Amino acid sequence: MKYRTLGKTGLNVSVVGLGGIPVQRITPEKTRELLERLVQLGVNFIDTARGYTVSEEYLGAALEGMRDKFYLATKSMSRDYEHMAADVETSLSNLRTDHIDLYQLHNIKTQADFELAFSDKGAVAALQDAVKAGKVRHIGATAHSVDALAELLRHPEIETVMFPYNIVENQGEALFAQAKLQNVGVIVMKPMAGGSIEDGTLAMRYILRNENCTVAIPGMAELAEAEENAAAAGIEGPLTEDELARIETIREQLSGNFCRRCGYCAPCTVGIDIPSCFLMEGYLKRYDLADWARTRYAAMSAKASACIGCGKCEMRCPYELPIREKLREVAAAFGE
Ligand code: SF4
Ligand code: SF4
Repeated sequence: MKYRTLGKTGLNVSVVGLGGIPVQRITPEKTRELLERLVQLGVNFIDTARGYTVSEEYLGAALEGMRDKFYLATKSMSRDYEHMAADVETSLSNLRTDHIDLYQLHNIKTQADFELAFSDKGAVAALQDAVKAGKVRHIGATAHSVDALAELLRHPEIETVMFPYNIVENQGEALFAQAKLQNVGVIVMKPMAGGSIEDGTLAMRYILRNENCTVAIPGMAELAEAEENAAAAGIEGPLTEDELARIETIREQLSGNFCRRCGYCAPCTVGIDIPSCFLMEGYLKRYDLADWARTRYAAMSAKASACIGCGKCEMRCPYELPIREKLREVAAAFGE
């Protein structure tokens, strides 16, 4: 296993970490087996979230007696002081620990998000107080749009950023270089493009060749996935001609039909959160997280079926995705 320093946190993290979403669909016992194997493989970084249903709890149970083997990261959608402070306490309890190494603002997106989170009564102030109290060691944030990532890099309180990066989503690369210059750690989410890329070894090789990325966190629930991802980190040398050719093939196959979650299609005329519809469809079909995807989809105020076909989103999508057609597929998959 290789290790890199996670920006100004100074944490020496393995370049492969555990993305905690799929833990929801296994058992605490299987989670324990997974963590034991990760220790053997040299993986020392775990990321989860308040929003991943039982993920924090399963990880907390599995970590009994192994807490010192991992750096623990979690995150919350709370934007104000009170709710973030409460979420920190819940995470500590779920994870059965007295400190969390990295607590992140989860999916920060709008201007209103930033204004509240970074205000005197905001979530960041709550996290800073948690740091003073020794409950949290470092503060980070996650985002899906380039604009939000750029804004995060203007806030020195933020020690790490988490952003999608993979063979078909490289829109964050220039800002990863900027993050490196500012000594901000870069955590890569969606390394397999939400399950669209099936060659896990190639996907990890593509990300890890970029020294501006500190750690990639593929979702893992099976021992074989952990072994494949860890093995990919051990392959030396630049991408080969064959790997480059396979990357081009994947790009050709996915490029015309893959949502990069850039958000340029917004606002939808009827208020549909278009990228979230596609994301939930991915969890439903590819990640075997049907219940979770259905619950989150059910909570969305405007469903894919509400599309009136005005076409305005498609005019704004830089990747020329057939959004209306794809939303019909989402509506069919969820039945609404
Ligand atoms: S075509 Fe459908 S999804 Fe696109 S803006 Fe119009 S209503 Fe919204
Ligand atoms: S549908 Fe197009 S514009 Fe909208 S988020 Fe996806 S890639 Fe971006």
